[in-house]
Amino acid sequence: MTYEAVIGLEIHVELNTPTKLFCDCPNDPGNAPNTHICPTCLWLPGALPRLSRTVVEKAVTACLALNCTIQNRSAFDQKVYYYPDLPKGYQLSQHHHPLARNGSLDVDTGNSVPRHLRIHHIHLEEDVAKLIHDTEGCTPVSLVDFNRAGVPLIEVVTEPDIRTPDEAMAFLKLLRTRIRYTGASECSLEKGSMRVDANISIRPQGSTAFNTKVEVKNMNSIQHVGDAVAHEIQRQTACMEKGDPIVLHTRLWDPDKQVTTPMREKFAGPCVPDPSVPPIQVDDAWLAQKKAALPEMPDRRRERFVTDYGLARDEAGAISRERDLAEFFETIAKRYTHPRKAANWIISQLVPALRDQDRVVSQVFLTPERFMALLTLVDTEEINAAAAKAVLVQMLSTDQPPETIVDTHGFRQVSDTGALEKIVETVLTGHPSDVEDYRAGNPKVMGFLMGRAMKAARGKANPKLMKEILTRKLSQ
Ligand code: ADP
Ligand code: MG
Ligand code: ZN
Repeated sequence: MTYEAVIGLEIHVELNTPTKLFCDCPNDPGNAPNTHICPTCLWLPGALPRLSRTVVEKAVTACLALNCTIQNRSAFDQKVYYYPDLPKGYQLSQHHHPLARNGSLDVDTGNSVPRHLRIHHIHLEEDVAKLIHDTEGCTPVSLVDFNRAGVPLIEVVTEPDIRTPDEAMAFLKLLRTRIRYTGASECSLEKGSMRVDANISIRPQGSTAFNTKVEVKNMNSIQHVGDAVAHEIQRQTACMEKGDPIVLHTRLWDPDKQVTTPMREKFAGPCVPDPSVPPIQVDDAWLAQKKAALPEMPDRRRERFVTDYGLARDEAGAISRERDLAEFFETIAKRYTHPRKAANWIISQLVPALRDQDRVVSQVFLTPERFMALLTLVDTEEINAAAAKAVLVQMLSTDQPPETIVDTHGFRQVSDTGALEKIVETVLTGHPSDVEDYRAGNPKVMGFLMGRAMKAARGKANPKLMKEILTRKLSQ
């Protein structure tokens, strides 16, 4: 018997608003525990929550980017449970009347037709406090940090439409890209601003039944989600084949052992309407404004980069994945005569250099104008490609135009024929057997001699001219 998996994701995304959901405390983990707190987010008796308009605006923008229908009226409920990270005994969430419903993403999984994966709803909720278990000292203690209490979250709940680990990963990547474009969140699983629970069940291929599912938590990267789902499918298949029943429960992904382990029974407390926060009313004119202000989304932008600037689809995809990089490219492409060349430099040189420094293009000194000036120096043969690569790396951390860096570091290309001829002569005299080899008909030696000559010119020679001189002298 072959089985197929049924997968639904629940994704918590922390919104990067300046303040928390129901108070004016900074939405920031802080340097010291319990510094960004007030009676409201300590949930002290008598303190009333006051809904942040900025949070609602960011949440609505993120929901629109995921093609959801914003509800005219949504409201908060109290999700009741007690845990030390939630001492007031309930979390404010939206269970009965979520902010948005009926979204979807068309996910490219390498087939001719993208997969249409539906989103059931998106709701707003407050984050809970953070527990710190200090087991190092003589007496182990558990401490509570309330800096995170009341931080705004949206929870995206998908329909159980996903069938494979690859689809789950592709869905998460697209969701992350689109939310990042809106500027509502960085969506980093590594840093905790995005947290994913995967619900998995299996059924015989061809069946339309929904069997008992298992929930898996604790994945710290999109790859971990894929690995955890793949492992869970294998585990449940083995259970089915042995005739062991699948029971509803929550498991944790262990990335070291590459297995899921049981954590607890699935817990669901009661949910009751909350009387302290008024319902959210969204009027049509305001919503129309938000829709109009939505940035162009990455998939549309990719198609436009193909038609407007002649990029290949994968090039356009690589450049449009992050909004700031896409905008950096487009500023150049509008004014520089070889947009595709600029794209290639961005993909092959700029992106890896940024990755090395763990920064994005909006965080470095390099501007589109300076990048264009650098490419022009290559076009006019004032510096060669190797020098340009070195200059580019320096331009990330130096607030100087490329010309200045070229001059201070002596990167300017040597196109003086006399000087290059001298270098070639020295190299040829130094390698008589290779010269003989070449003249005897081994063309491969050319590359070696060229390398030597460029090195002798300390990488600054005009390579075209150098090659001409070398070829001429070898055939003499
Ligand atoms: P719960 O109330 O247990 O959290 P929900 O109906 O709210 O369950 O669904 C939670 C998530 O689980 C959703 O993403 C949904 O798509 C997914 N899901 C529901 N049923 C199944 C199933 N049989 N197999 C896999 N995933 C499922
Ligand atoms: Mg759930
Ligand atoms: Zn507060």
